[in-house]
Amino acid sequence: MTMNTQGRPTDAGSAGTSSTDTFTGNRGLQIEEALLFEVGRHDVTGVDLDEPVAFAPRLGKLARTSAIDLPGLSEPEAMRHYVRLSQKNYAIDSGLYPLGSCTMKHNPRLNEKVARLGGFGDIHPLQPLSTVSGAVELMAELGRWLIEMTGMTSVALSPKAGAHGELCGMMAIKAAIAARGEARDIVLVPESAHGTNPATAALIGFKVVTVPARPDGTVDPAAVKALLSPQVAAIMLTNPNTCGLFERDVVEIAAAIHAAGAYFYCDGANFNAIVGKAKVGELGVDAMHINLHKTFSTPHGGGGPGAGPVVFSERLAAFAPLPFVRIDADGPVLVEDEAALKSGEQPFGRMVAFHGQMGMFVRAVSYMLSHGADGLQQASEDAVLNANYVRAGLRDVMSQPSGDRTCMHEVLFDDHFLDGTGVTTLDFAKAMIDEGYHPMTMYFPLVVHGAMLIEPTESESKASLDLFIATLRHLVMRAKAGDVERFREAPRFAPRRRLDETRAARAPKLKWERPQPLSEAAE
Ligand SMILES: *Cc1c(COP(=O)(O)O)cnc(C)c1O
Repeated sequence: MTMNTQGRPTDAGSAGTSSTDTFTGNRGLQIEEALLFEVGRHDVTGVDLDEPVAFAPRLGKLARTSAIDLPGLSEPEAMRHYVRLSQKNYAIDSGLYPLGSCTMKHNPRLNEKVARLGGFGDIHPLQPLSTVSGAVELMAELGRWLIEMTGMTSVALSPKAGAHGELCGMMAIKAAIAARGEARDIVLVPESAHGTNPATAALIGFKVVTVPARPDGTVDPAAVKALLSPQVAAIMLTNPNTCGLFERDVVEIAAAIHAAGAYFYCDGANFNAIVGKAKVGELGVDAMHINLHKTFSTPHGGGGPGAGPVVFSERLAAFAPLPFVRIDADGPVLVEDEAALKSGEQPFGRMVAFHGQMGMFVRAVSYMLSHGADGLQQASEDAVLNANYVRAGLRDVMSQPSGDRTCMHEVLFDDHFLDGTGVTTLDFAKAMIDEGYHPMTMYFPLVVHGAMLIEPTESESKASLDLFIATLRHLVMRAKAGDVERFREAPRFAPRRRLDETRAARAPKLKWERPQPLSEAAE
């Protein structure tokens, strides 16, 4: 078998492509897209330029002597290229996107409209403050909402993603420990954690110690207590966790962490499930990032940059990086530089040069104001309801590692139900592509064998969930009926079949080589 079974005519003879080969390599109306360098010609241009008037170049020896070697395309060719590329990007705007842990929720178009208003969209971070007071007020207002929803003391808006927020929170913890004159160097991270948690701790010099999970994927306070010592700086705990379950013992864990003189970092990527339901400040959290792109509907996954503001408890607020928002007697204040600090505040530095992702702040505030407090709470409730609707619709045919416990915003299945069928989690996911569904998150969290983590989000309708459930039920029945070929061959209808992902990662081709023209290759 060739490395990538792409189903193109030149691959004739490679496994599993014969029944769906086409002469062009196109499938249905999905067109094969070559690079511009492969389709363009030097003698074509999409614009008519006048011959330049004669002039004496002043570049001396720096003047280019060879052709620039850029491909020329007509306007329709360039247009088609980019439109087709845009259509290859599967998005929440094209269909259900049940990628657990990623919260691919709908981004209302109102957000886009507001983000494009000139007063927000056309400003520059170096403009005089007096010309951007509305933007500053919007940031302070966003901070006020985030502080209110989490029951925390201050918020740094600047981190540009969840992982960047983790770095911000852990740097504040490091600064707080240094200010106490201590040398704690261990960070506890549960087995089920997102990979960014241990990576963040290790990046800034902490030693990572893994906390084992219970069989259902939750953290046992006894396991945490057994690991506590004067060397422990913090725990990084995700709640709701990556198995889609609320960590019920979180208050007991927080108390034990604090009694040991350590800090509680909460990975808040799953905040979408608890907005308006639980204030993390009251659970004992000291720092938590909020992925605006997961909870407050700002686009992500190829659709836009993320934003990962970090909220801080009273214990850590003094170390928040500049700029940060604190609530003063007359409302929220955006503290931008040293001159505005109160006594005792000692920011550990800055995460970015300016303020972070302004466009995402505007979208998040637009989402918050258009929903209101009750609407945000309802969104969380609907996210949890939708995940449990999927769970209830599949629990008799798919297996859950946590028994039959009510889940939060995402439902976790393992591959037990495929035992003896010869079909793997990967095969199952690929068969979903043939049915027009982006697969769920697979093989994560690692604590569960053959994990399939489904997060429908609140914005899917009942009809959409019913079809999704019916499709998965159909696939389970086909697997149990021994229709293994269908799964091994999947995806049959996608422009690309199965890629050798390991080889692609281990031996990436870093240099582009001009492909043979199809006519020559066929000879
Ligand atoms: C998405 C996610 C992160 C990382 O967030 P990014 O914005 O992708 O950097 C961290 N932890 C969990 C549990 C997540 O789901």
